Formats: sequence, C-alpha cells, structure tokens
Amino acid sequence: MKGLLPGTFDPPTLGHLEIIQRAAKLCDFLYVAIGESSKSSSSFTIEQRRDLLAKLTEKISNVEIISFSGLVVACAKKVKADVIVRGLRSESDFNYEYQMAAANRQMSGIETLFLMASPAYSHLSSTIVREIAREGHRLQGLVPDDIESMVLAYLRH
Ligand code: ADP
Repeated sequence: MKGLLPGTFDPPTLGHLEIIQRAAKLCDFLYVAIGESSKSSSSFTIEQRRDLLAKLTEKISNVEIISFSGLVVACAKKVKADVIVRGLRSESDFNYEYQMAAANRQMSGIETLFLMASPAYSHLSSTIVREIAREGHRLQGLVPDDIESMVLAYLRH
C-alpha cells in the first residue's frame, strides 16, 4: 500500500515525526507531501520545510518528501497513492478532517486513514512551536533534537 501524508509542516514537529514513523510502518511506501497553501502564508519556505523533513526522515528508507499545490486528491492521483494518511489530535481536528475525508473520497474514491496522536504529542502543533521559537526559547521536546538549530536559524533569517 502506497500512502500519502499531506500537511503544512510549518515547521515539522515531534508529533509529525511520530505520525510519519507509524504511517511508514503501515505502508509499503509513504509520500510526505508539503502543501503550498493558497489561503495562508507560511513562515518557512517550501525548501526549508523540505530540508527539515528530509533531515527528520533520513533514517526511514520507505519515505519520500514531495511538495504540491492544489488539491490533495490531485497529488494522490499523480503519485498513485492508495490511501491518504492524517493524524488526529482533538475534537477540533475531527470536525475538519471528517469533512475533508468525505470530500476527498467523493472526488476520487481514495480513503483517508487516521492515526490517533500519542497522548505525549497531542497538544503539539506547528503554531505552538513557531510562537515558542519566536520568543527565543529552546525547542526541546517540541521538535526533534537534530532539527532544532535549523528551525531556529530559519526563523531568524
Ligand atoms: P495541516 O495544515 O494540513 O493540518 P499540519 O502540518 O498541521 O498540516 O499537519 C499535518 C498532519 O500531521 C495532519 O494530519 C495533522 O493532524 C498531523 N499532526 C500534526 N501535529 C500532530 C501531532 N502532534 N500528533 C499527531 N498528528 C499530528
């Protein structure tokens, strides 16, 4: 089974890494797809997010980082993904994800597989990481240690 895990990853967090690791175990091959949102502007460029995700996943052999603009289902069809994978943290995630999964299935027939966030990371989001990083704090326990300095450096420039 080929999976597609789409997201903004602005920046990637330990929560993202955990979902990627678990999804990579379930799938034969996993595309982690960075979305270029037309609605909101991101703090990290696509190239920076790609660098961070590449570093984060360098030891996972069946993962490839790609980027896309437009609809997730168009990207899924392009790479011939069998399933879309998303993480679920909270009730507020659920309402949005429920609609997206239904719309995506209606448009393409592609199912969405949900992995429940681990309790240790269920509070963690890119928004929180950005806010803490902007205040000049360390990001221990929020992003993987090996990308902490990259995240802080990218935000400063
Ligand atoms: P989006 O803007 O598309 O939600 P994100 O980068 O915020 O993109 O999230 C990408 C995916 O990773 C989503 O499925 C999201 O639910 C999941 N995710 C993000 N943070 C966590 C976390 N702490 N634990 C589990 N899943 C997470």
